[in-house]
Amino acid sequence: MEKNVVEVWEDCLKIIKDNINYQSFKTWFLPIKPVKLKDNILTIQVPSQFFFEWLEEHYIGLLKKTIRKELGTGGRLEYSIIMDNSEGDNEPYTIKVPTSEKKATVNNPVAMPIDLNRGASKEIPNPFIIPGLKKIKINSQLIESYSFDNFVEGDCNRLARSAGFAVATNPGKTSFNPLLLYSNTGLGKTHLSHAIGLEVKSTFPEKTVLYVTTDQFINQFIDSVKNNNQNDFVHFYQMIDVLILDDIHNLAGKEKTQDVFFNIFNHLHQNSKQIVLTSDKPPIEMKGIEARLVSRFKWGLSADLQVPDLETRMAILHKKLYTDGIEISDEVVEYLAYSINTNVRELEGALISLLAQSSLNKKTITLDLAKQMIDKFVKNTSREISIDYIQKIVCDYFNIPIELINSKTRKREIVQARQLAMYFSKKHTKSSLANIGLHCGNKDHATVLHACRTVNNLVETDKQFRGFVEELDKKIKL
Ligand code: ADP
Ligand code: MG
Repeated sequence: MEKNVVEVWEDCLKIIKDNINYQSFKTWFLPIKPVKLKDNILTIQVPSQFFFEWLEEHYIGLLKKTIRKELGTGGRLEYSIIMDNSEGDNEPYTIKVPTSEKKATVNNPVAMPIDLNRGASKEIPNPFIIPGLKKIKINSQLIESYSFDNFVEGDCNRLARSAGFAVATNPGKTSFNPLLLYSNTGLGKTHLSHAIGLEVKSTFPEKTVLYVTTDQFINQFIDSVKNNNQNDFVHFYQMIDVLILDDIHNLAGKEKTQDVFFNIFNHLHQNSKQIVLTSDKPPIEMKGIEARLVSRFKWGLSADLQVPDLETRMAILHKKLYTDGIEISDEVVEYLAYSINTNVRELEGALISLLAQSSLNKKTITLDLAKQMIDKFVKNTSREISIDYIQKIVCDYFNIPIELINSKTRKREIVQARQLAMYFSKKHTKSSLANIGLHCGNKDHATVLHACRTVNNLVETDKQFRGFVEELDKKIKL
């Protein structure tokens, strides 16, 4: 028997769930209602225009694949969007919009079948086109929005960014070859490596630029072994002018792929072609990678990306809001930047969830909504509580300017706030006493220890004070 619309959508959800993280799944897919299945067209209802645009922008590839799996190659997807209704009656106004490569607009609902062969951005460019004398056009796999313009500069990334820019304006000709960008996850390696590629393409349109993830590279290589055309694979890579290989730590333990990459690397380097690599570690800490490769990684420049400081985190949020044309009050931006302080991807994720929440519930984005959202979505992720954050909470609570905590003042209420900040930093961070002291008014570890004891004593003897501490503790853990 044929599956009905609900069953089809449920199967789709299963596939989608396996392909994205749970938070995104919850935010973007659970609110969707399947409404109709007719003539192999699945119609889904989404809560708003913003929602629809977000899906089209970020999940179109996945949706296409999923529909293909469920409905076969003739399958199509249409959206029905619940529009804001200014007349005030609650009847949702729905409109059909086809999925398309270009952003479909609501005013122009031309139904277009999903073209499954075009533009699936996650698909690997075919490396098995034998390059003739003429340069062939390849899909560089670059994401337009990961540009230098959209990459906010801060102390955390200045060296990497300027080295990247130098390489982009002079590919293969600087001593930064290879340029290796390394950092923990979510700090902009992929973004910056795309920015280099985009910049090269716009300045030197004749150059062949290719971005590949190391996983793609490995899979292509495995396929070439299977199909017995390894030479084509190697030739393809040897004709690239700027090769960007993302997440090379994934080469660990893949000896055969390392061998072939070694040869490609040498060829490109000898011919002054630019190589850009990213990794989660500097060469010296790499494991499972042949020494001869690691030593080549050290030939050029290794630059790291650090966790951005508060100002840079706020600037990143502002930039994102500006490019998306969305307005949110400064206090909300500040709150997000304070609360999520280790990872830019999570920071953006929080902003997206917030936008989604407000779009879903048609609420304006207030500080309260932001707090609720952070509570729900972010608390479960590994948010680290920082000393800065604790200071901010304590100072807000007692309504004193944060600079005073770090000043030399011995005024009673300031001393107390400072001691509380030390006490909570000891309790909630992994920082040493010495480090806590350093960040709370440049004190030594003995002062921090004394502060902790004082707070503990007061908690036991002073009921009002205990109340403060309990409330602050809750706020900090929120
Ligand atoms: P990584 O590759 O290091 O894991 P990504 O490059 O994927 O990190 O970055 C995660 C997200 O954070 C991306 O959406 C990226 O655009 C954004 N991002 C990171 N650093 C910056 C920055 N300095 N300015 C603007 N956006 C940034
Ligand atoms: Mg990355």
